[in-house]
Amino acid sequence: MRSPLNLVFTLALAVSSFAQTPPPLSVTAIRAGVLIDGKSNQPRRDQVIVIRGNRVESVSDAAGAKIPSGAITIDLSHSTVLPGLIDSHTHIFLQGEEPAQGGYDANILRYPLALRAARATVAARRALEQGFTTLRDLETEGAGYGDIGIKMAIDEGYIPGPRLIVVTRAISTTGGYNLEGYAPELDMPKGAQIIDGPVEARKAAREQLDHGADWIKVYMTHRSWVGKTGELVSQPTLTVEELKAIVDEAHGWGRKVACHAYNGIGLQRALDGGCDSLEHGLEITDAQIAQMVKQGTWYCPTLAAYYHDWAPENTPDGQRDRKRVAVHGTSLQKAVKAGVKIVFGTDMGGIVWTEPMAQEFPRMTEFGMSPMDTIKSATSRAAEMLDMAGQVGEIAPGAYADIMAVNGDPLRDINALGSVTFVMKDGGVFKNELAGK
Ligand SMILES: [Zn+2]
Repeated sequence: MRSPLNLVFTLALAVSSFAQTPPPLSVTAIRAGVLIDGKSNQPRRDQVIVIRGNRVESVSDAAGAKIPSGAITIDLSHSTVLPGLIDSHTHIFLQGEEPAQGGYDANILRYPLALRAARATVAARRALEQGFTTLRDLETEGAGYGDIGIKMAIDEGYIPGPRLIVVTRAISTTGGYNLEGYAPELDMPKGAQIIDGPVEARKAAREQLDHGADWIKVYMTHRSWVGKTGELVSQPTLTVEELKAIVDEAHGWGRKVACHAYNGIGLQRALDGGCDSLEHGLEITDAQIAQMVKQGTWYCPTLAAYYHDWAPENTPDGQRDRKRVAVHGTSLQKAVKAGVKIVFGTDMGGIVWTEPMAQEFPRMTEFGMSPMDTIKSATSRAAEMLDMAGQVGEIAPGAYADIMAVNGDPLRDINALGSVTFVMKDGGVFKNELAGK
C-alpha cells in the first residue's frame, strides 16, 4: 500500500506534468488559386488556408489573410484545391479478380492472409495518392477482420493510407455468396459471413460490431441473369425479417447498414428492411425511388465498375453484363431528378487498383449529375452519410486538414479530378508534385 505521503507526492507530480504547456503545433499556410470547399456551390479565387496541427484553422481571401509568423507556406496558386475525397465503396482486400490468375476464388483458396494484407496496404496507398483521404471499405472478402488491422496500421502511422470506415466480414445467406460450384461434400469457406434466420442475423451483426465494424454490409441480392422477356433478374438473399434484425442491432449501436442490391425482390426487401445506403441499385423502380426519398436512403451507384470485363456478347453472362449497364444509368437519372441523396463510390478492388479511381466522375455526369454535384457526392454529402459532417469532406475551420489539389478546372472538365498533384492528410503532406517548381 502507498503511504499517504507518497500519494501526495504522486498527485503533485501529476498536477505539475498536467500544467506543462504542450509543444506548439506546426502551422502551414496553403495558397489556393481556386478553392472548391466541398460544401459551397461557388468556387472562390485566391484563398489562404491556415492549418494548425491536423486541423484547418481559417480560410480567407489572400488579400486580407493573416499568415501566422513561422508558418510553412505551400503554393497551390496555379491549382484547384479541394477537400480530400471520400470513396464510399471500396474493397482494399480485392485485386480485380484476374480470371487467368484464378479469379475471385484464388484470393481465398491460395493466398496467405499476409499476402492479402500486404496487397491491401498497396491499395490503401494508391487511394491516398489519388487524393482519396477517406474510404468506406465495404468488406474484406474472406480476409476476416483484416480491415481492422489495416485501419490500425494507418491510424498508428505505420503505413500511409486514407481514414478507413470498415465493415469487416459482411453478411449473406446460404446460397448467397462465393465460394460456390464445388463438390457438395466439401465445406467451402465463404467470402462473407453466412446467416439463416433472424437470430443468426442479429448474432453476426453483434459479432462484427463487437470486433470493431464501423458499418454493417449486407448482400440483399446475389446471382443475376437476363430473364425470358429480356429483363434483368436478381436472386434475393436475406428476408425482410433477417435484415430488420441486423438493422435494429446496428442502429442500437449507433451504426448504419449498407445493402448491396441490384434490383427486384432483393432491392425491395433492402428498402422495406430499413437499409441506410443502397449499393449499386442497378434498376430502381419509380415507387422504390419515392420510398428512398421518403426514408432518406443514400444511393451509392458505382457505375464505372460495370463497364469492365464483359463476357462475350452471345453468352448468357455477356447478355447480363450488357443489360446491367443498360438499366443502371436510367436509375441514376431518375434518382437525381427525385432528389435522392447520392454518394460517390467506385467498387475499387472489383476494378483492379492500378486503374484510376476518378473514372467514376465522368460516368456520374453522363447520367445527369453536374460536376459540382459529383464533387459534393465525394466530399460533404459522403461526410453527412458517414456522420462526419464538419470533420471531413470540406475545407472549413475545425475540419481535419485533408486537402488535395488538381491541375485544371474540374467544373469545366470533370476529368481534371484525375490529375492530382498534391495530397495532405491530417495536416501532413503526403504528395506534392509542385514542390520546387
Ligand atoms: Zn463492392
